[in-house]
Amino acid sequence: MFYFDPLYLMFALPGLLIGIWAQIKLSSAYGKYSQVPVESGMTGAEAAREILDRAGLNKVPVQEVPGHLTDHYDPAKRALFLSSDNFHGQTVAAVGVAAHESGHALQHQAAYGLFNFRMAIVPATQFASMAYMGVFIAGFIFRAFFAQCILIAIALFAVMTLFQLVTLPVEYDASRRAKEQLFRLGLVHEQERAGVSKVLDAAALTYVAALVSSVLQLLYLLTLARNSRR
Ligand SMILES: [Zn+2]
Repeated sequence: MFYFDPLYLMFALPGLLIGIWAQIKLSSAYGKYSQVPVESGMTGAEAAREILDRAGLNKVPVQEVPGHLTDHYDPAKRALFLSSDNFHGQTVAAVGVAAHESGHALQHQAAYGLFNFRMAIVPATQFASMAYMGVFIAGFIFRAFFAQCILIAIALFAVMTLFQLVTLPVEYDASRRAKEQLFRLGLVHEQERAGVSKVLDAAALTYVAALVSSVLQLLYLLTLARNSRR
């Protein structure tokens, strides 16, 4: 039913490989530093609580969620969620990830421009990711409208790519804030700094990979649109 486009493989493969590489880097860094205990003996949850309280965010709860690396800050609920490993973990990785998520709460509090912009385009991004596949497939079924469908697909995919573009600086900034607080409050010691950085840098790399893969896919769509006009 579907025919396979070798051109697609050319655009999709590099993104896929970078994504796999980033996941391997993250698994290895997280795997290593989730075995290294922090000298303070603090859990991720305690470190997050400390960072939030010191910033006056006493009302932001720190809650446990199931899953592996499911940690996130929910701006709508104004709540921080840590995966069980990081919630209870007394390790460099757990404290690093918990501090990163607290970094997002600090961005929210500071009304950091890119954080707000990212939050504002979430509904548009959700709509685009739902509609995109439908429009794309419709273009192949109704060949007469192929050119129009591809143009709509490009517009939708551009919204998703913009979201990933904005995500990148937001993630790096959250890690920067995390490290600043960890060191300022003395939650990690000098010799633990490198480990925190390695885990957070590896996590950020997965967002770089997602962006690269999106940009390539957008280029593929643009190529399709150009070819369909010939
Ligand atoms: Zn983050």
